[in-house]
Amino acid sequence: MIREPLIFEISDKGKRAYTLPKLDVPEAKDALAGLPIRPEIPGFPQVSEIEIVRHFTRLSQQNYCVDIGLYPLGSCTMKYNPKINEKVAALPGFTESHPLAPADTVQGDLEVLRLVEDYLCEIAGMDACTLQPAAGAQGELTGMMLIRACHEERGDPRKYVLVPDSAHGTNPSSAHLCGYTVKEVKSNEGGTVDLEDLARQMTGEVAALMVTNPNTLGVFEYDICKIAEIVHAKGGFLYMDGANMNALVGKCRPGDMGVDVLHINLHKTFSTPHGGGGPGSGPVAVKSVLEPYLPVPRVAKKGGAYALDYARPRSIGRVKSFYGNFGVIVKALAYIWSLGPDGLKEIAEVAVLNANYIRRSLDKDYHLKYTTPTLHECVFSDKFQKEFGISNLDIAKRLIDYGVHPPTMSFPLIVHGALMIEPTETESKRDLDQFIDIMKTIAREAKTEPELLKAAPHQTIVRRLDETGAARNPILKWEKSPT
Ligand SMILES: *Cc1c(COP(=O)(O)O)cnc(C)c1O
Repeated sequence: MIREPLIFEISDKGKRAYTLPKLDVPEAKDALAGLPIRPEIPGFPQVSEIEIVRHFTRLSQQNYCVDIGLYPLGSCTMKYNPKINEKVAALPGFTESHPLAPADTVQGDLEVLRLVEDYLCEIAGMDACTLQPAAGAQGELTGMMLIRACHEERGDPRKYVLVPDSAHGTNPSSAHLCGYTVKEVKSNEGGTVDLEDLARQMTGEVAALMVTNPNTLGVFEYDICKIAEIVHAKGGFLYMDGANMNALVGKCRPGDMGVDVLHINLHKTFSTPHGGGGPGSGPVAVKSVLEPYLPVPRVAKKGGAYALDYARPRSIGRVKSFYGNFGVIVKALAYIWSLGPDGLKEIAEVAVLNANYIRRSLDKDYHLKYTTPTLHECVFSDKFQKEFGISNLDIAKRLIDYGVHPPTMSFPLIVHGALMIEPTETESKRDLDQFIDIMKTIAREAKTEPELLKAAPHQTIVRRLDETGAARNPILKWEKSPT
């Protein structure tokens, strides 16, 4: 295969893909506010139409996506996203309404927001919800800001936030960004929160515990109600990272477990394509005690019509412009409606079944540090393969040769050499069996042909890359001007 050059490298001066007709009006000499019009964009590639089409089509064919095959990145929920969601989000009524339009002209949009808020509250067992945050991590920060606002108003601003060592990496970052000092809570041998350690660390100076549930081992926190009791007894809040709600949806509700604040990733559980920086949405749902602090504006219903309510003096303010990522919210509504209550339940059932099918099918070939039954994902390690000098990186790279996207690697940190696999609920048994076969083949190759694995991938345009070099010395700008 040929390496596809950068578009700048195929640029030839004077080539055009498209030309505009001759001006039949006077040429503008300067644009709005007297700013000069650029006669040329420096370094802009000059290519013909066929060159553009081939360039981007070739690049797209080198890309891997969930529409090609299994994408088992743990903690990412790379499920197949039904195309009907896209169709609904592309309806002109949605795409053409202006974010600054007066509320009485966008009643339909506001109804969508309200419906999604209400459904999420119902699904999560919470009292109120904001759809503003643009991602899970921003939802976490928003949730922490709500907690801080409440503690401050009570005249008791606290100092610490507890985060278990099995939490998602964004949790301690969000607490830190909100000005809290993070303290780690240990996991027990089953991979869940160590209650004794929690009780010891949970003092009157702790604002909240942030718990990822199911945690990053894919294990449900069986003692979540006891955890809530311990946290509440000292006046703290229980924050739950619900990014991976596909393990729970329709089956149980965080609100019923004593959770006070929760964020949900619409782009994971409620089916919007993500990764590569695509738009996300990280709604935050709260119990009524935290409702006054939610971001403004809130969608309110006044005299039979929807309105935007800004008159909320205790609010933390805005966390995102306009309504959040509206298209993602529309897709979530399309997904919820197309599945219905029974379909939503089936998400959790099949997500858990698929992950456990993989876990049991591969537990002779790959080491499992934690044998506790898991929900939507399972975490193997490279311990068996290390004997032959093979690491989780070699296994991940070899998977690419077999046409499968590698799983999440070296995370969670409490499993050394981790391979974190989340098949999601959308995979058929046939596709799961194929993946299991490939993983078994690689386990055999580790014994018999370790050199082959160490040099993988062999079937790709670029081979083993210097990832450290790329991270330390990134080339972010094309320096050479095109000829
Ligand atoms: C994906 C994920 C996040 C972060 O969500 P983003 O939308 O990427 O910011 C947080 N927690 C968990 C458990 C996740 O899986």
